[in-house]
Amino acid sequence: MEWFITLLNVRPDALSVWSNPVVRERLSWYYSVMRNEKPAKFLIAKKTPVEINPYLQELELKDLWRLHEKASQRFTEYLRSVKRGELSIEKLEDPKYSYLDVKIAIAYKLITPCRLCERACGALRLKGKPGVCLVDRDIIVHSFFHHMGEEAPLVPSGTIFYGGCNFKCVFCQNYDISQVRAREGEKLSPKELANIQVHLRRRGARNINHVGGEPTPHLPFILESFKYLDVNVPQLWNSNMYMSLESMILLEDIIDIWLPDLKYGNNNCAWRLSKVRNYWEVATRNIKRAHDAGDIIIRHLVMPNHLECCTRPILEWIARNTPRALVNIMDQYRPEHLVAKYPKMYSDIARRPTRNEILEAYRIAEELGIVYEPVS
Ligand code: SF4
Repeated sequence: MEWFITLLNVRPDALSVWSNPVVRERLSWYYSVMRNEKPAKFLIAKKTPVEINPYLQELELKDLWRLHEKASQRFTEYLRSVKRGELSIEKLEDPKYSYLDVKIAIAYKLITPCRLCERACGALRLKGKPGVCLVDRDIIVHSFFHHMGEEAPLVPSGTIFYGGCNFKCVFCQNYDISQVRAREGEKLSPKELANIQVHLRRRGARNINHVGGEPTPHLPFILESFKYLDVNVPQLWNSNMYMSLESMILLEDIIDIWLPDLKYGNNNCAWRLSKVRNYWEVATRNIKRAHDAGDIIIRHLVMPNHLECCTRPILEWIARNTPRALVNIMDQYRPEHLVAKYPKMYSDIARRPTRNEILEAYRIAEELGIVYEPVS
């Protein structure tokens, strides 16, 4: 109750936003899980049986993917029945091994040598060797709390900040936990990670918001935490979307609401400012898949002097390819981290965006018919 009064005082839009029919329609799945009217997808995955033990050592990755494909079809049937109100998953038996187990088994195979993200840096993480993202075999959590500053439909958001990141953004606002002290957070077991999620949900979180840094390097551990999670809560993936196709497929039937960043409209800006290759192809591939798999709010941070090279092509791509997405056009860019330290080296982004630049971003979105106002 306490959280509800805080919500009314601090973010009245968190309640009023649901009277907008477009928001209600585009986030309908998330809304029904948030209100406990439907079970989160990870709970359905836990009830989807597979015939063999996916943790058997002799199973190769290709065998596991075959098992995944078959289980995915069964999961889809369950999900459709749940959506139509024809199936209550409590009535299903708890299988010995489930679709979730298959996902966990695959994710642990992808981690050594690591190819969870498109860097595919090959770190032997289960042997304790950190990758480019600075994460090894440990779950590193820097903080968790009810975030009141996220988009209106999401707050209070039960946010978990993981250490490390596969991007090297020169302007990172979380550089402390993503780069500098990435490995200094608290080391947790999957069960403790599940307990945090229970704690956040029981105290009013509308969702569990996996963020960092970046959650992708923690994917196997997050999936494993769901084995111990027995409360219904929407799972939210707050990410740069640079995961490998395999990681994306593992997430597709698990995430209830996606919160991806689309930062750059071309690969040159992505390389210069975040040191990632093929950004545009990878991020758009994954965001398109996320859009087709479920509810989504795409974030775009407007950067000074990047309207034509980034903001415009991004908004045009969204309008063409992900028409159901709500879009948060973010105006809070400020020079941080290396940009603050070496402003001459990054002179194009060494200031905040002007009011005119933000208004121009809004104007482009309006011209394209993008729905941004309820979440910006
Ligand atoms: S998640 Fe980390 S360790 Fe794995 S490929 Fe990406 S950067 Fe390398």
